[in-house]
Amino acid sequence: MKEYPMTFREFIKRFPDEQHCRDYLYELRFSDGFVCPKCSHDKHWKIGELLFECAKCGRQTSVIAGTIFQDTRKPLMDWFIGIWWLSTMKTGASALGLQQVLGLKSYQTSWTWLHKIRKALVNPNRSKLLGTVEIDETIIGGVATGKRGRGAENKVLVIIAAELNGKKIGRCRMGIISDASSDSIHPFIIENIETDSTLITDGWRGYNGIEKKGFSRKIHVQKTNPNQEELLPHIHLIASLLKRWLLGTLHGAVESQHLQSYLDEYVFRFNRRKSAQRGLLFYRVLESAMQTKTITYEELTDHKI
Ligand SMILES: [Zn+2]
Repeated sequence: MKEYPMTFREFIKRFPDEQHCRDYLYELRFSDGFVCPKCSHDKHWKIGELLFECAKCGRQTSVIAGTIFQDTRKPLMDWFIGIWWLSTMKTGASALGLQQVLGLKSYQTSWTWLHKIRKALVNPNRSKLLGTVEIDETIIGGVATGKRGRGAENKVLVIIAAELNGKKIGRCRMGIISDASSDSIHPFIIENIETDSTLITDGWRGYNGIEKKGFSRKIHVQKTNPNQEELLPHIHLIASLLKRWLLGTLHGAVESQHLQSYLDEYVFRFNRRKSAQRGLLFYRVLESAMQTKTITYEELTDHKI
């Protein structure tokens, strides 16, 4: 197994300058050596710091095209530090914090970077939850709709699923749903949970019919005192931790169009809460960043949703 830096000091030693960062991204991109994406030829010339030209067809390939680093004009080292900072921090990361860490002049740049990095927290190759999975919806309040000038405060419905290993909680997933109908709930289940898993739900009809799609279902129903927290205690624990985190890290300032990326960040942290190898997380996020398309400030602030 590769040696991963585990402390910030080791990290700085491993990536002391731009060249080391470029070399590492090159390795990630072309782990089996350079291959032209157009003609599959392997002979190539270096024509820029991150740009290579195929010797056969002349096609130019940038190491960072199609990644979250695409078109960046900032040093890769800044990106590496930002990713290290976000992925090794135990709690949350704010745009103001990143701005201070990197000494960025613009808050907008810092805010945009955080969103780009958050996109990479969802590993494109991640596997679905499986086994016994508890699932329920919760309401996140105080979410701005993103329609500026109206000051509308909205509530957003979030569905949470968590693996149960005995009494312990395993991995979780979260998604925004427009309502609690089966048309909204079933696609979330199918996208995030392996068939043949056993779902523990309450008696809500939005879950009805999921058995026909390959899942088993155990229904926990209240007998006398309808207390949802006792019914599905694990999801309620996660939901209350999530709400505390949103308030603490983001000071409750969440716009609905960005809520999913905050949920993804929370899931990333939650699912790795027991990981002793914080440094390894940095490499996982970096790998994922190389497979994640970037998002621009304009796309992030497009309020037409
Ligand atoms: Zn070629």
